[in-house]
Amino acid sequence: MNNAFMNTYKRLPVTFVRGEGSFLFDINGKKYLDFGSGIAVNCLGHNYPPLVRAVTEQAAKYFHVSNYYSSDVSISFAEKLVEAASPLGIKKVFLANSGAEANEGACKLARKYSLLKYGPGRHKIVTLKGSFHGRTITTLAATGQDKFHKDFGPFTEGFLHIECGDIDALDKALDEKTTAGLLIEPIQGESGIIPQSEEFIAAAAELCAKRDILFIVDEIQCGVGRTGTFLAIEQYKDKNGNPIKPDIVTLAKGLAGGVPAGAFLAGEKTSEVLSPGDHGSTFGGNPIAAAAGLVVLKTIQDTEFLSDIVRKGEIIINGLKNHHLVKEVRGKGLIIGLDIEKEAWDVLEAGISRADNSKNQNGLLILSGGVNTLRVLPAYTILESEIDQGLEILSQVLDEV
Ligand SMILES: *Cc1c(COP(=O)(O)O)cnc(C)c1O
Repeated sequence: MNNAFMNTYKRLPVTFVRGEGSFLFDINGKKYLDFGSGIAVNCLGHNYPPLVRAVTEQAAKYFHVSNYYSSDVSISFAEKLVEAASPLGIKKVFLANSGAEANEGACKLARKYSLLKYGPGRHKIVTLKGSFHGRTITTLAATGQDKFHKDFGPFTEGFLHIECGDIDALDKALDEKTTAGLLIEPIQGESGIIPQSEEFIAAAAELCAKRDILFIVDEIQCGVGRTGTFLAIEQYKDKNGNPIKPDIVTLAKGLAGGVPAGAFLAGEKTSEVLSPGDHGSTFGGNPIAAAAGLVVLKTIQDTEFLSDIVRKGEIIINGLKNHHLVKEVRGKGLIIGLDIEKEAWDVLEAGISRADNSKNQNGLLILSGGVNTLRVLPAYTILESEIDQGLEILSQVLDEV
């Protein structure tokens, strides 16, 4: 019953009981095409057999051991995660359970790095306007959107937000006497899929390297294969055309295909900063999440699977950009935002209410990313026929609302 919940979510009127691939079924047996995959979480779709197998097999062995000990499956998961990010210089990982926790840990790591090397007073973390980094008091402070700040102060101090793309503001904000880190989503998710420009990312990475300010990328929404590379930052190059090597990377959402998991990864500079007692998590590295995460990592290792993500994204982008009510389409791979002439929430509602078995009509699950912005974040396993169906429904719904 929904009224047992605190009133924290504006929910659409639908309750799901089952999923299969890119479809979900509600309590009345109505069928919905899933263009949101749980906000980029169910990246391999619903009821994906290898994922179900891995989770059930692990559940039959053991659910949990504390971090007093090691778990075979979480050791493997950590190794594979570091291996996947090793081309970018990543050396170590801390396993957590959510995005906010991953960012919280990243901020702690950045502050301690700076403190050990430069002493107190160099603790600021610069982030971008429009960013979203989580719901804890510290990650809200990092989040560069005022609407999240009302009612909950005072916040953790030391966060400042600058305009996306403003290299002069960045240069000023990255004060080497007071600043420990720069935290950036390469593609902003919650604010409507806003990719940072290559020029801005290159300038940011260069300024950070020069001033020994840690370059932290929040890939919680755009990482884990969603853009067609393991991390979105891999698609950016510095001004000499070399890969950009972040000092810290944060992940969550799709990391374990729907089982709660988060992580922060550390490069050369940051991998030896934290010591026993500095950080911890009861559930972090949970064996069931690790077993699921191993399936996700293995699946997205396949270069053909990754190039399919890009190809599918292009089909969606091309399908959307000519619609007369679509003003702009942004994104890469299966992280796509579109500005529309209608209210996004009306589209979400109409996508739900059109589900009707008697008319053989499926609903559509799609996400908002602002008042007039939609987000399309399907499972990587979505079929082309399902993409066509989703685009068809979306086009109808846009015309109707
Ligand atoms: C969702 C998200 C978070 C927060 O993750 P939670 O698991 O909800 O704590 C942080 N950063 C980005 C970019 C996100 O998309």
